[in-house]
Amino acid sequence: MKNPTITRLLTLFILVLFVGGCQTNNQTESLQEEETSQSKEELKPGPITLVIHGGAGTILKKNMSPEREAEYRAKLEESLNTGYEVLKKGGTSVEAVIATLQVMEESPLFNAGVGAVFTNEGVNELDAAIMDGASGMAGAVAGVRTIKSPIEAAYQVMTNSKHVMMSGKGAEDFAASRGLEVVDNSYFYTERRYNSLQKAKEREADEASAMLPYQDWKYGTVGAAALDQDGNIASGTTTGGMTNKRFGRIGDAPIIGAGTYAHNESCAISATGHGEFFIRNVVGYDIAALMKYKGMSITEAADEVVMKKLVEKGGSGGVIGLDRQGNVMMTFNSEGMYRGFIKEEGKPQTFIYKDE
Ligand code: ASP
Repeated sequence: MKNPTITRLLTLFILVLFVGGCQTNNQTESLQEEETSQSKEELKPGPITLVIHGGAGTILKKNMSPEREAEYRAKLEESLNTGYEVLKKGGTSVEAVIATLQVMEESPLFNAGVGAVFTNEGVNELDAAIMDGASGMAGAVAGVRTIKSPIEAAYQVMTNSKHVMMSGKGAEDFAASRGLEVVDNSYFYTERRYNSLQKAKEREADEASAMLPYQDWKYGTVGAAALDQDGNIASGTTTGGMTNKRFGRIGDAPIIGAGTYAHNESCAISATGHGEFFIRNVVGYDIAALMKYKGMSITEAADEVVMKKLVEKGGSGGVIGLDRQGNVMMTFNSEGMYRGFIKEEGKPQTFIYKDE
């Protein structure tokens, strides 16, 4: 450019444009910051909360003795109180889930740990998973026969290995190497579950009928979801699977995204029911995805998946879960589900039947 005045003016013009542009960007950024802190404010985590299930199925009041019902309610309460104490003392949601589920694993009332259902071979094969909603890390074990606490083994897989799921002998060796208690398979034996296996075998006339859903299905897989003082959520599930299972069948409980799922941005979920349906429909993650991508509440999302999708496909069962605000969900399409929750004030609420 030949004229120096024009060159100077042009340079000034470009400079003004540049500074103006920067300011606009800065304003946009600070507006975005404001919005983000506003939405963070709106979504402030709720107070400590814990929700559990002890299995879903054909659970009818007419078939339950008052003594039996009292036993279930007492154990559900004990489990809730145990997890609550962990949360109250500032423990993490992962710690609360483990403590809660260990009470249920040790109780013969539920289909997990002691009292697990039997395989066709007449042994107990256990599945469990845990997921930490804060880190997105997860751990699971499948088809294990000698680990006293499968949920603790799942935790070890999550925290002390590079893997997400371990199965059978390998999982047992790993758990032992982590110092977990190893027991004989007979530790899990209960006469009641053994009798259920005999009945299931009698019903099973041929290979084809083994593919049909059980007529009188009421098994007690256990699961928990917790929200801790730091606003982090987690969930876990532990089970013996389904009576008379064979060929190393694995259910939904240890499958991340199916029977167990947790992420701070959506929810923490644990399922119980006819596992094959829960696996095929990726139930846990489907609920989380409806919340994340469609903005549904946890109850709306669970209704959509459990009360519509699964019902249409013939998949019976239920889910429990919570979100970071402490909204609790307990949704099931079966006759009943052992379930309960406890909130900040520390009063456990338990339920069994449909219309409670
Ligand atoms: N979902 C478990 C499974 O299919 C069974 C149950 O919930 O009782 O292994």
